[in-house]
Amino acid sequence: MVTDESTRKLKCKKCGSRFKYPERLEKHQEIAHNKKKEKCRACGSEFHSLENLRKHKKICKDKV
Ligand SMILES: [Zn+2]
Ligand SMILES: [Zn+2]
Repeated sequence: MVTDESTRKLKCKKCGSRFKYPERLEKHQEIAHNKKKEKCRACGSEFHSLENLRKHKKICKDKV
């Protein structure tokens, strides 16, 4: 059976994202997991994406 899944066998071990090409996976890992993490200045928590940080900031503000 040929499914879309079979063409995207490269999988990021950290978040489960799938990619067709090795370069894409590498790039993804660089951006999403290695290079720069978004950090909350208030509590120091680190997040993989700006989106997550934004969500956290709302909660973080409520706490403090
Ligand atoms: Zn990933
Ligand atoms: Zn925080």
